[in-house]
Amino acid sequence: MFWYMNEERELVQQAARDFAQKEVLPELMSMEVEHKFPTELVKRMGALGFSGWPHPKSAGGSAGDWVSYGLIMEEIAKVSTTLGVELMLQTTLCSAPIVFGGTQEQIDKYVKPVFEGKKIMAVSATEPVGVAQWWDWAARAKLDEATNEWVIDAHKIFTTGAGQADIYVVNALTAEPDNGPMSSSAASAFIVPAGTPGCYAGHIENKLGWNGSSTGAMNYEVRVPAENIVGKPGEMVGQEAGAWEPLVFGPMCLGAAEGAYERALAYVKQRKRDGGTLYSTLQVVRHSLANMWLRIEQFRSFVFDVLDREDRHEFDVPQAFGVKIAGAELMQYVGKEATMICGGQGVITENRLEQVYRDGLVSAIGGGSSYSFLDLVAMMVTGDGPPPGPPTK
Ligand SMILES: Cc1cc2nc3c(=O)[nH]c(=O)nc-3n(C[C@H](O)[C@H](O)[C@H](O)COP(=O)(O)OP(=O)(O)OC[C@H]3O[C@@H](n4cnc5c(N)ncnc54)[C@H](O)[C@@H]3O)c2cc1C
Repeated sequence: MFWYMNEERELVQQAARDFAQKEVLPELMSMEVEHKFPTELVKRMGALGFSGWPHPKSAGGSAGDWVSYGLIMEEIAKVSTTLGVELMLQTTLCSAPIVFGGTQEQIDKYVKPVFEGKKIMAVSATEPVGVAQWWDWAARAKLDEATNEWVIDAHKIFTTGAGQADIYVVNALTAEPDNGPMSSSAASAFIVPAGTPGCYAGHIENKLGWNGSSTGAMNYEVRVPAENIVGKPGEMVGQEAGAWEPLVFGPMCLGAAEGAYERALAYVKQRKRDGGTLYSTLQVVRHSLANMWLRIEQFRSFVFDVLDREDRHEFDVPQAFGVKIAGAELMQYVGKEATMICGGQGVITENRLEQVYRDGLVSAIGGGSSYSFLDLVAMMVTGDGPPPGPPTK
């Protein structure tokens, strides 16, 4: 038994395993092959208490611990990275800024339905200029004092859940960037319910992995009530949540890698070869499995140590970035090895091995690229200072 397990956590783990095996697995190919967005499954994660797990009860959450959330994510991602990504979005980037920086009315109206399994959220930050350079965004929001509405004009790309979500959290500038420090930023977040006139999806991308996640363009030529801003204009709300996203990539990547390892092990032990099996007759296969196991166990220690630190409020931002970088690498390594040792069966989508390799590469970019995260880690760990804000004139 792993050090972080106890009776209560075993029950949580079992509930997530049951959901993943009994409800997600039968729907997997509709996501993987037909690229169908898993609306009902995302809502089920809310209804089961998973999406709001670490959030306070006042926000409709379960006030649960991060280690248990890691177990939930691990079990779900063993079956589907796409559903893991959706769980991550509902818990962190979409809802958390409102829980941390929004009003109780916003929480009641927009977050609680997500944690009750009635609604789905998405976040639209990225534009063609990227996401880190927010000061170059074209998206603007102006307050119309006559009607007390925000007039938003934003054209976003790479929104996961585009055209499928019920509620969008949209970033736009409320003032021109003043080339000052991050604290005087003009980037703001707004809540835009689907169905608001002028809110519509554009092209949904065909992409390497995270199939069925409906990642694509979203347009917001909308007016929303003044109270739909999250926090104050220019306030970077939910900074804490910013580090939660890479953190939860950890158990997601761990689960996905474990799933591929277990499926490959089962296959090579039954595939006949030369009077034995692939496993019994080929040392290269056994060594490949041993290497996969070793890297998975190393990563498990790292992930659950960092989750436990978050439970003890001793969590470090570079550790969260490190977890995401290492997790995406683990998925690519295990996904590739598991595919290789299973030969022809490895490349068949239904066998769910090559999927882990593809999803691993996407995980090295979506939610922040590993290369840019390495640069941030370097700045934070070596003490050269915080990441740069807008360039000075
Ligand atoms: C599948 C998927 C889903 C996504 N979902 C969402 C979503 O729901 N909402 C949303 O708003 N966005 C979403 N994104 C956008 C995502 O966050 C960005 O694509 C990601 O952060 C990378 O930014 P970029 O595409 O602008 O690449 P760039 O930042 O332009 O990177 C290009 C290259 O430069 C490197 N690079 C960039 N900056 C640095 C640096 N400082 N140091 C070293 N190297 C660097 C990168 O590693 C990369 O190799 C999604 C992306 C993908 C692929």
